[in-house]
Amino acid sequence: DTIGANLARAVAAHGASPALVDVASGRRWTYAEFGADVERLARALLALGVAKGDRVGIWAVNCPEWVLVQYATARVGAVMVNLNPAYRAPEAAFVLRQSGVSVLIATPAHRTSDYRAMVDALRPDCPALRAVHYIGERSWDELTAASDGATAGELAAREATLSCDDPINIQYTSGTTGFPKGATLSHHNILNNGYFVGESVGYTAADRICVPVPFYHCFGMVMGCLAATSHGACLVIPAPSFDPAATLDAVRRERCTSLYGVPTMFIAELGLPDFAAYDLSSLRTGIMAGSPCPVEVMKRVVTEMHMTEVAICYGMTETSPVSTQTRRGDDLERRTGTVGRALPHIEVKVVDPATGTTLPRGEAGELCTRGYSVMLGYWDDPAHTAEVLDAGRWMHTGDLAVIRDDGYVEIVGRIKDMIIRGGENIYPREIEEFLHTHPKVADVQVVGVPDERYGEAVAACVIPRDPADPPGAEEIAAYCAERLARHKVPHRVEVVDSFPMTVSGKVRKVELRERLAAAAG
Ligand code: ATP
Ligand code: MG
Repeated sequence: DTIGANLARAVAAHGASPALVDVASGRRWTYAEFGADVERLARALLALGVAKGDRVGIWAVNCPEWVLVQYATARVGAVMVNLNPAYRAPEAAFVLRQSGVSVLIATPAHRTSDYRAMVDALRPDCPALRAVHYIGERSWDELTAASDGATAGELAAREATLSCDDPINIQYTSGTTGFPKGATLSHHNILNNGYFVGESVGYTAADRICVPVPFYHCFGMVMGCLAATSHGACLVIPAPSFDPAATLDAVRRERCTSLYGVPTMFIAELGLPDFAAYDLSSLRTGIMAGSPCPVEVMKRVVTEMHMTEVAICYGMTETSPVSTQTRRGDDLERRTGTVGRALPHIEVKVVDPATGTTLPRGEAGELCTRGYSVMLGYWDDPAHTAEVLDAGRWMHTGDLAVIRDDGYVEIVGRIKDMIIRGGENIYPREIEEFLHTHPKVADVQVVGVPDERYGEAVAACVIPRDPADPPGAEEIAAYCAERLARHKVPHRVEVVDSFPMTVSGKVRKVELRERLAAAAG
């Protein structure tokens, strides 16, 4: 199926069921209404001369229009270029130029970001950009009004020319380890991934999925939007950008059955002073993904947030995104200690990063994945594509993992984050997991900092549970010394109130390392 055909199926089967709720504005759509609005916007894009394969950019915080744009671009066969709402003008200009966006749809302004001013500033550098429409303003109304310029028959004729292997999205990676790369994804890539993720958590038309993660990222776009529509479930948008109180409030008010988040989002929700006041009893499941999911946090999500069937997913933008996922019947050990096993039709293997030889189960090496979910390639960048995709179409993830005998995968950490202290390889993940059990620690990140004697030394950045009573360096060292080998014990502890983050909710360890090195130097 193409994404358009899949939506048509959902509209036919679930026309009267809720499709989309925007909690901030109170607006609601049934599948029939949603399908009609997508059709209107798709015809408008046709009328504006958007051709198959043209790039249409969306630079917006979470809102219903975002979702309409996703399905409308797919119906006309345009390639949606998803811009990170945290970009500043130069980054946005780079992405718009690199992908050749001709029509851009944007939020006018949100919090401290004035998108209109940034677009005005970057337009001279983006000659291909011929039209910009701002959501919620007259230019959006003008856009949708343009639908009169193209008939339903013309839209159907365009759809008849589309193939499920056509590129449909350029998804830039989070930029956690460097500059974002534009993964080109097809209908086939992302629609199937959304379907299988939804199947794994057992979605039906009765489910209401609360999505506080950004749509600009695959987590929101595929595991949110596409998983919902391919199972007839309802998508609930709690707020334009992440807000822990608004998220729990949306769950309570909309009786959501599923809640998404990266680990730091769940930590923020669990840490709300009035957490106990939210009625979360409607929750059944949810997904935690995107970065290492601490066991302690998973346990609290299961017991205190009623998410007894919560799943962990592992994946990356380049693989649509999900490769492995825990299953509903999995026991707590598998569900908290692993990232699950491969989804249907996806293969996983672990190779020696130096030689590329496949390693036996139980040994740590670079995780590689293969299957329908692997991207077509990085947009207009064959050199970087060749670095990660080999001749057998295996995606080399850059993550270190162990595949256990039972097929469940444990992520050890990113190859780039490994600390090498005096020749010993240290994985931050292991130390972070342990420090999460410390009563004074709310969240923690471990990074390597330059050290004259050992090359690198272990540093821990701690967000304390109680800012008035942070753990001291000696306290942490003594705590670790009982359970961790000496070389893993952090020799430096920094108390911080937040970490440098990507908008997709990942901690930028690169930046944390630089900050620490600067502070020490
Ligand atoms: P960039 O590639 O630009 O540096 P990024 O890799 O963070 O950024 P994404 O594609 O958003 O961009 O993230 C994929 C990465 O996130 C994976 O390679 C992995 O390191 C990490 N990740 C995702 N899910 C999990 C998980 N459940 N456990 C541990 N790590 C995870
Ligand atoms: Mg990456």
